[in-house]
Amino acid sequence: MDNKRIIIAIDGHSSCGKSTFAKAIAARLGYIFIDTGAMYRAVTLYAAENGAIVNGIVDEERVEAMLQDINIDFRFNPQRGASDIYVNGDLVEGKIRGIEVSNSVSAVSSIGAVRQKLVAMQQQMGRNGGVVMDGRDIGTVVFPNAELKIYMTADAMVRAERRYKELTAKGDSVTIEQIYENVVSRDKADMSRAISPLRKADDAVVLDNSHMSVEEQMSWFDEQYQRVING
Ligand code: C5P
Repeated sequence: MDNKRIIIAIDGHSSCGKSTFAKAIAARLGYIFIDTGAMYRAVTLYAAENGAIVNGIVDEERVEAMLQDINIDFRFNPQRGASDIYVNGDLVEGKIRGIEVSNSVSAVSSIGAVRQKLVAMQQQMGRNGGVVMDGRDIGTVVFPNAELKIYMTADAMVRAERRYKELTAKGDSVTIEQIYENVVSRDKADMSRAISPLRKADDAVVLDNSHMSVEEQMSWFDEQYQRVING
């Protein structure tokens, strides 16, 4: 086996299993997995808890002013086999996936200063390679030279059903309509924002996993990985 430790960039639509896929790849290759969506969610949670989001309205100037007070770090959690995200030393992993954060995160992530801060952190975290990073702008902005870029998508209703099962299993009271609405509106917001919109990088390979099992996705990945490694 070779020892080349590459950068794998995974972008795509909301709730199509990017993080699950990225985590499985990282485990297989012994790479670090970085969930950049968690970083935007963490900033959103902090903004909501500190009065910069009221009734779903994001006060952009306040969020921008707050950025200097927000310290994000990841700490490996061996029980999950992945890293948990902390804000100013507080574990927020359990709080950032709910519908309230989901409904405001696209507005927060469209703020230029927020992106500037988080992109710089991401570039720092991935600079030595051996990393699988998932998000919306990894292959286009964060690591435009990533050796392997994957653009993931799936049918919106399939995605909503998967997310619905996940959230209700955790005891969240949500309806499938709420989730579907969130998934579709986040796609729209993420693809139409002015700064770093979600788009497929020209050199990304597309994975539509609407009707694929995790095993099928992993064998698809193996082919892509071998293609890149064997040049
Ligand atoms: O990946 P996840 O669905 O957790 O991301 C939450 C939100 O964070 C996205 O809908 C998007 O608005 C934002 N995001 C982003 N750029 C990234 C990762 C996430 O704008 N690299």
